[in-house]
Amino acid sequence: MKYIDLRSDTVTKPTPEMRKAMFEAEVGDDVYHEDPTVTALEKRTAEILGKEAAIFMPSGTMTNQVAIRCHTEPGDEVLMDVSTHIYFYEVGAPGALSGVMCRLIPGIRGIFTGRDVEVFLRAKDIYFPPTRLICVENTHNRGGGSIWPLEQIASVAAAAKRHNLIFHMDGARLWNASAETGISEADYCGYFDTVSVCYSKGLGAPIGSALAGSAEFVERARRFRKQFGGGMRQAGFIAAGALYALEYHRARLVEDHTNARLFAEGICDLPGIDLDPATVQTNIVKFRVSSGSPFELVEKLKAAGVLMSATDVDTIRAVTHLDVTREEVEHAVEIFRSTMERNGL
Ligand SMILES: *Cc1c(COP(=O)(O)O)cnc(C)c1O
Repeated sequence: MKYIDLRSDTVTKPTPEMRKAMFEAEVGDDVYHEDPTVTALEKRTAEILGKEAAIFMPSGTMTNQVAIRCHTEPGDEVLMDVSTHIYFYEVGAPGALSGVMCRLIPGIRGIFTGRDVEVFLRAKDIYFPPTRLICVENTHNRGGGSIWPLEQIASVAAAAKRHNLIFHMDGARLWNASAETGISEADYCGYFDTVSVCYSKGLGAPIGSALAGSAEFVERARRFRKQFGGGMRQAGFIAAGALYALEYHRARLVEDHTNARLFAEGICDLPGIDLDPATVQTNIVKFRVSSGSPFELVEKLKAAGVLMSATDVDTIRAVTHLDVTREEVEHAVEIFRSTMERNGL
């Protein structure tokens, strides 16, 4: 069966044009700094993000964790929202790889304020771990693709500056925020010391992320990338897919956002579904299922040809992307409605 796959924006496959760019990529040994396509991707990424330099890595988990490793020493504390990817979905890596503690701020859809930083910051005291770093996720995955308002980033940045804290952004879906708001990636990144971005989410490249910051920071990151096992050789083949995605797949992200709203509007009136379409800001639709199990509903939807993820005991997530058309999203709405009806939900 050909499924309409709304589980994640990571499921996209390279387009024929992207495959051609990958097939024809010039390559070399990137650990020796001799892969021209990787170098071109790093340069172009740094330029878009308004940073001095960037470094290509296999995954967003690695870019975030190398950033934490670079910025901290064991026993330091890192501030972040309670449902942030770095804490929630990176397998305990801050503790395992950097020996740091995460102090969790209860944000609203993943978003907090400079005032929260003041509250959660540790006082200088022999009993406390030193607070070293603040991490922000934009757009916020578990927040349902929520976009950080620029003023709120500015307020957290000001608190970071006041207290001499380093400021990192997990911008796996920063592209979605910029496409939606018209605020450039560089304008968002200007507030941060370092930024991680993914090419394999909405942009539709098969593999890869980058970590950007000052040239000095990126040199330090190069050491830890190698230590974490992320030094790659002829990586130009995958970098070419990312480079293609960066040029040709950023502007179209607004189509995914329109499709996400279309999906939300199509199902929000159903009894048993708790969803306000106004909360859909980008390509992620999260909704509560108030009767029955979301895990069972996801199984029934699968049998009918639509894939989604149950992310919590009461929550389902649907994500739009490059490989689902508007027609398929409309069809997914019909299948969702008939599945709910057929099961008396
Ligand atoms: C997907 C994602 C990452 C990186 O995940 P990998 O699977 O390791 O590439 C990081 N942050 C956020 C917010 C993400 O959604």
